[in-house]
Amino acid sequence: MRKKIALIGCTGSIGRQVINVVRRYPDLFTITAMAANTGGDAFFEQVREIKPAFAVLRAEGERADVPAGVRFERGEKAFEEACAYSDADVVFVAVTGFAGLKAALLAVRAKKRAALANKECLVAGGDLLMRAAAESGAEIVPVDSEHSALWQCLSFDRGAKFSKLILTASGGALRDVPLDRLPEMTAKDALAHPNWDMGAKITVDCATMLNKGFEVIEAMHLYGAPFEKVEVVMHRESIVHSMVAFEDGAVLAQMSYPSMELPIQLALTYPERLAANVPPLDLAKLGTLHFSAPDPVRYPCFALALGCAKAGGDLPCALNAAGEVAVHAFLDGQIKYTQIAEIIEGVLSGMPPRPAESYALLEETDARARAAARSFLR
Ligand code: MG
Repeated sequence: MRKKIALIGCTGSIGRQVINVVRRYPDLFTITAMAANTGGDAFFEQVREIKPAFAVLRAEGERADVPAGVRFERGEKAFEEACAYSDADVVFVAVTGFAGLKAALLAVRAKKRAALANKECLVAGGDLLMRAAAESGAEIVPVDSEHSALWQCLSFDRGAKFSKLILTASGGALRDVPLDRLPEMTAKDALAHPNWDMGAKITVDCATMLNKGFEVIEAMHLYGAPFEKVEVVMHRESIVHSMVAFEDGAVLAQMSYPSMELPIQLALTYPERLAANVPPLDLAKLGTLHFSAPDPVRYPCFALALGCAKAGGDLPCALNAAGEVAVHAFLDGQIKYTQIAEIIEGVLSGMPPRPAESYALLEETDARARAAARSFLR
């Protein structure tokens, strides 16, 4: 029996790699539903190749020609249907932004296994999502490379005991730029990631290490870890994707050359490991791996995110929203690189945390933080 996948966010970097895995193992997987926020030629090209039973564009717009046998719909209702698609075993949440939380909640409430490549669903709504999963019994599978590494070190058991989760961080594209030159850094500079090829927003988040702060929050939710049990260590080669320390002093690490296809594929095939498009690791050739402590002066966004991780409630949701506005303004050339942290700090200082008790409350926090962040742009 082929595993049926509902792919939410099919046109982005992760979505395209999910399709690569399905192309590699057509006898194991089939995509029955696919959805994207907005679609152009890329979306319809995918639909023509994959011919899912159900194809959705979330944005309203024109009708379009799709192959026979494909039901094509637009709009929010159709998007929601795809996220809880009845003829799917796995919902792969690869859509970007806050939409990921809605998608993940719908999948989990429909008792679908949810493979989470979207960070926002855990950062902004981790409390809510983990509660929903506990209630429905739905399984949550991590896709983010660090969290997949932790999961692998825990023998695919998110409930296993550990003494510490150790996330590795590359430091991003600007890690070696002298501090006094950071204000001049452009989007092009911040997008030149040394090890990973990813979307623009997340690549800037790697440069500021806001991304690593998000990942601390993700890890706390996925593995039920208190803040004190999550550690971050700088590791410039991105070979060790994360580590788990155990009670007896043993530390397990997962290593490979950087590739998102490995965690994406594993989320679909686990506990089995199948050949992936990753070359064998040549440690002798690598020679040396480096580790060091993060520098709070170079990475103020990371420090802000850790504050939100500790405070909890809806503060991580505000952090995510403020970060999105600030980073897009930076990518558009509206603000300096160093203003990303200033804007986030300004937004957070005006938002005392509230318990993250409902989707409606988080939506309101998200909107309020975005508006506050935009007010700093004027
Ligand atoms: Mg990651």
